[in-house]
Amino acid sequence: MKYVDEFRNPEAVARLVEAIRQRAAALPPRQHPWQLMEICGGHTHTIFRFGLDQLLPDNIEFIHGPGCPVCVLPQSVIDQAVALAQRPDTLLCSYGDAMRVPGHHGSLLQARADGARVQVIYSPRDALDMARRHPDTQVVFLAIGFETTAPATALAIRAAAREGLTNFCVLCHLVLIEPPLRALLADPDLRIDGFVGPGHVSLVTGNAPFEFIPAEHHKPVVISGFEPVDLLQSVLLLLEQLQQGQARIEIQYRRVATTQGNPGARAPVDDVFEPAPLAEWRGLGKLPRSGLQLRPGYQAFDATHLLPDSPAPGTLPTADSTTEADPRCRCAAVLSGKLKPGQCPLFGRECTPDTPLGALMVSSEGACAAWYQYRHQGPAHGAH
Ligand code: SF4
Repeated sequence: MKYVDEFRNPEAVARLVEAIRQRAAALPPRQHPWQLMEICGGHTHTIFRFGLDQLLPDNIEFIHGPGCPVCVLPQSVIDQAVALAQRPDTLLCSYGDAMRVPGHHGSLLQARADGARVQVIYSPRDALDMARRHPDTQVVFLAIGFETTAPATALAIRAAAREGLTNFCVLCHLVLIEPPLRALLADPDLRIDGFVGPGHVSLVTGNAPFEFIPAEHHKPVVISGFEPVDLLQSVLLLLEQLQQGQARIEIQYRRVATTQGNPGARAPVDDVFEPAPLAEWRGLGKLPRSGLQLRPGYQAFDATHLLPDSPAPGTLPTADSTTEADPRCRCAAVLSGKLKPGQCPLFGRECTPDTPLGALMVSSEGACAAWYQYRHQGPAHGAH
């Protein structure tokens, strides 16, 4: 398969592992491993699926960052989605992987079992089509994701505005990649030496959200693809920069990502959305200007107006909404790279993919679900 087989080639993997071993041996010795954070949940999944972390030398370690949109969904947003789904004559449309994320009072899946109308869709266009076909139903799209998914949501809202659809709206939890990275780098307990950058976000944004990392923190970033060879090449490029004392952005994923990104995809986003003063992240708390809200001209499509205690734009619904349901839950520490999934006391006991207590166990891109799926049984296929 073009663009897959060559990036899972065992000889290429073996060569890269040897090159990484040599580079790692040349790094200055120190007490703790050199830590490379992969930002994107897709990378986390590949790392566990192919056991890439086990191929690294002892002095190099992956830590898993907050790049899975489902994992960073706060309970308050799930609570709002459930409340909307419970309204009469309302249909809540959601991506499938958000269905099992626990809110304070259960998940969307549980709400549907209790009679709420919840529909799994694959794109905002599906939700829009639902609104066109059912004019008597208020269709609410639960919009989640990073810069990658925002363009399709913006286009759906613009189409609804053009068509004068009044029964389509959006519960918006679109978030931006730069603010959580700034928050992580400001944390004195974290010692990140370099970043494996998210290839799909970069496809839209280009290098812009990552430029502050080498400029202000003198740490390297390599924008990476998602196959084993991509990730190992990216690690090698990071180690080369670390050994040479350099810090810049490099693009390993050149078959997709560019320095400039895709201005055509950003244009509808800039038209429809503006940064919200504050957005909430599971595990990271409330970060300024880290999410998107509808611009004044599109606020008719804001689903929060349908909620009984509609929060003002850019404000948050509850004061304690970052609190996890179970105080033993370690999602926040895992999300910020301070803990490995297996170190959470709930991992594999109360919290499993069938009974997720935290969001990181829900999505296949969540660190806990990936660790559970592949580390319990060993890597699925190795690199083949
Ligand atoms: S095992 Fe469950 S509760 Fe613990 S950190 Fe992972 S998702 Fe959160």
